Amino acid sequence: MSLRNRLLAVLSVSLFSAPAFAAEEIVVYSARIDELIKPVFDAYTAKTGVPVKFITDKEAPLLARLQAEGANTPADLLITVDAGNLWQAEQQGVLKPLQSPVIEANIPPQYRSPTGAWTGLSLRARTIAYSTERVKPAELSTYEALADAQWEGRLCLRSSKKVYNQSLTATLIEAHGAARTEEIIKGWVGNLATDVFADDTALLQAIDAGQCDVGLVNTYYFGRLQKQDPDLKVKLFWPNQNDRGVHVNLSGAGVTKYAPHPAAAQALLEWMSSTEAQGLFASLNQEYPANPAVKPSAEVAAWGEFKADSIPLEVAGKRQAEATMLMDRAGWN
Ligand code: FE
Repeated sequence: MSLRNRLLAVLSVSLFSAPAFAAEEIVVYSARIDELIKPVFDAYTAKTGVPVKFITDKEAPLLARLQAEGANTPADLLITVDAGNLWQAEQQGVLKPLQSPVIEANIPPQYRSPTGAWTGLSLRARTIAYSTERVKPAELSTYEALADAQWEGRLCLRSSKKVYNQSLTATLIEAHGAARTEEIIKGWVGNLATDVFADDTALLQAIDAGQCDVGLVNTYYFGRLQKQDPDLKVKLFWPNQNDRGVHVNLSGAGVTKYAPHPAAAQALLEWMSSTEAQGLFASLNQEYPANPAVKPSAEVAAWGEFKADSIPLEVAGKRQAEATMLMDRAGWN
């Protein structure tokens, strides 16, 4: 062994034995806003001593950055929302498939990639919101029934450009086929009270203000608005309880393909799926824990129990392009 190699060997032994090595920083690229993620990382650092640095941006710039950085990326973990987006990240090759018995035990299979490239960490339903002044819950039944003539001029929708609506449509195609789904979507578009909204909060406010009577939203937007305005004249309804159930989507994460610290990143992800972290992670955004052993917060539980669609969520990714084209054909802006 050369002197140089001997020195390197000594050096690496001392590096591995030093406690500082265990505390090497994990870098996270996060499409989830700071306030919803920082308390979780703070808790992990307090428990393990491992510092977590996170960079927050929108979905597309984070993915572009991972692509551009390639093997030189500093990112260990990608956190984002919607199975459609996680599926895209997997297709783009920026995630590393994991074999993790811990995650497999903690998170049901329909909320994970079959390859292990990503896992869901919290769940949100995309469900019907209705005016408590102008709609009786008995008038509501299914997503499909919002295409009925009864709702003409009374429905509000968010833009079809949002992945949440693309994923919901993908599950409709999976359930009904493309032709029937296009009829349903055309029915929705024909029932619109007004132009599509840029976000779910504006949509909920439109129902409250009387601009429309029903709409489709993610549960946590309702939770946020209800917190600000306890007198909100809007409630949530759980559709399709006699058939496949409510469309549930997720926020989730995957270890990056070129993670500089893959083992540390996997340990963090496994901890985030654990009973210890799930309550905190989900309740920060008024979501449902993806780990079924953990109960939702009291404020989320107050919206009532429902049957969720058990469709594997990778369908949201696999049928995303088809769904987007179908929505376009049906006139959903
Ligand atoms: Fe959102």
